[in-house]
Amino acid sequence: MDDAFDAIVVGAGPAGVTAAREMANAGLTVVVLERGAFPGAKNVWGGILYRQPTEEMIPGFEAAAPLERPIIEQRYVLLTDSAMMGATYRSDAFSRPPYNAYSVLRSPFDRWHAATAEAAGAEVYSEFTITDVIWEDGRVVGVTTGDPDGELRAHCVVLADGANSLLAQKVGLHKEWAPIDQALVAKELIALPAEKIEDRFALPSGMGTALEIFGESTSNLLGYGFIYTNRESISIGTGALLSDLIETGYNVNDMLDRFKKHPAIAPLLQGGETVEYSGHLIPEGGYDRLPRNYSDGVLVVGDAAGFVNPLNREGANLAMLSGKLAAQTVVEAKAKGDYSAASLSRYRQLLEESVIMKDLKKIRNVTPFAHDRPHLLRDYPKLLEGMLGEYLTVDGVPKKEKQRKMLGMVKRLPKKQLLGDIFGARKVLG
Ligand SMILES: Cc1cc2nc3c(=O)[nH]c(=O)nc-3n(C[C@H](O)[C@H](O)[C@H](O)COP(=O)(O)OP(=O)(O)OC[C@H]3O[C@@H](n4cnc5c(N)ncnc54)[C@H](O)[C@@H]3O)c2cc1C
Repeated sequence: MDDAFDAIVVGAGPAGVTAAREMANAGLTVVVLERGAFPGAKNVWGGILYRQPTEEMIPGFEAAAPLERPIIEQRYVLLTDSAMMGATYRSDAFSRPPYNAYSVLRSPFDRWHAATAEAAGAEVYSEFTITDVIWEDGRVVGVTTGDPDGELRAHCVVLADGANSLLAQKVGLHKEWAPIDQALVAKELIALPAEKIEDRFALPSGMGTALEIFGESTSNLLGYGFIYTNRESISIGTGALLSDLIETGYNVNDMLDRFKKHPAIAPLLQGGETVEYSGHLIPEGGYDRLPRNYSDGVLVVGDAAGFVNPLNREGANLAMLSGKLAAQTVVEAKAKGDYSAASLSRYRQLLEESVIMKDLKKIRNVTPFAHDRPHLLRDYPKLLEGMLGEYLTVDGVPKKEKQRKMLGMVKRLPKKQLLGDIFGARKVLG
């Protein structure tokens, strides 16, 4: 092990690169192995990157990173087959620096991000697909590409290979995620001139918006559609829990096509050209399904460890933070000369003290609650459409009568179900 690296990181996404940069900054010898032609080559996301957590990791990143548009506005939209309703938050605070978030394209961002780890002293190699870890005396001591000369050794291996990590499964830290614990998302990047984007979304020059769209966007399955504005393109996607897609027989690609053709959505995309199409899994099992994330000589970070908060659209920031905490753990392990599971259990302790576990714990019952109530995204948007349609139509009917009709619509819902939804939502969100 004398010529071994201090650490090998598998995967150059946000989690792996952060882990590598932090370890290299602390003076460790680190190598990152990435299967893509370059970091970010095939990586997929919606693309909203929060500023504050990123600034904590890479001070001054806004001046250097390839960012698309500051996100000055968040829209929540309910879509039925025949209507669109929504709420918008745009504020002075969101519209000026320091911005809350940016839209980002993974390919240029990940490439730039990987260079920050190289600048810190880590070695980053692309086109290396790791097929397994190497065991010796009951602990992980390296990785292999499966080729006779494809072995590399380290005191510690950090698995940052993304959703449904095959390597974490091989190490025995978890089994393949169950279909109910992961969402499948289809996404397109649609090229549009900047002026068209700004006109259609009523945006000041260079600024961006984020739309999360519920109901018809996912054919009423639990999940959401999204539209994010980039400089000269729009990211649009939709997804649902894999278990629901299997059960209903819905195809996520067809779902995206349907979403794009909705009369309220199609005009936003009109004249655009699809320049990229992708599909990806998101681990959404939450706190109660988190696998063990450390063992002898190995740690698991980011999506590979299941750190995603779907409610608040947080994945990349949690991936980076887990990478940082893993790096801290390895640095401490090196100081002790002890990479055993007992020593690396410090990672779990750091995670528990961090916002990752605090937030995942807080929202642990939201997905099961919503999943048990398929009527939420089916019935309530329709109810609201009926009520708003009544209220907004000026047709000579006295307002008192309209109010009575609207109340009648609510009363037609089963009372027990309505109360269960209200009190249940309060409980899981409280
Ligand atoms: C459609 C979609 C929309 C999303 N939108 C957002 C959003 O708006 N905001 C947000 O914060 N998060 C979002 N996320 C989640 C976010 O993308 C992830 O949480 C984040 O990318 C996790 O980072 P990671 O480094 O753990 O994994 P990844 O980014 O998946 O990186 C894993 C890396 O490992 C490499 N790799 C995999 N296997 C191997 C192997 N065997 N050998 C070598 N390399 C390997 C991959 O090529 C990849 O580069 C979204 C996800 C999806 C799918």
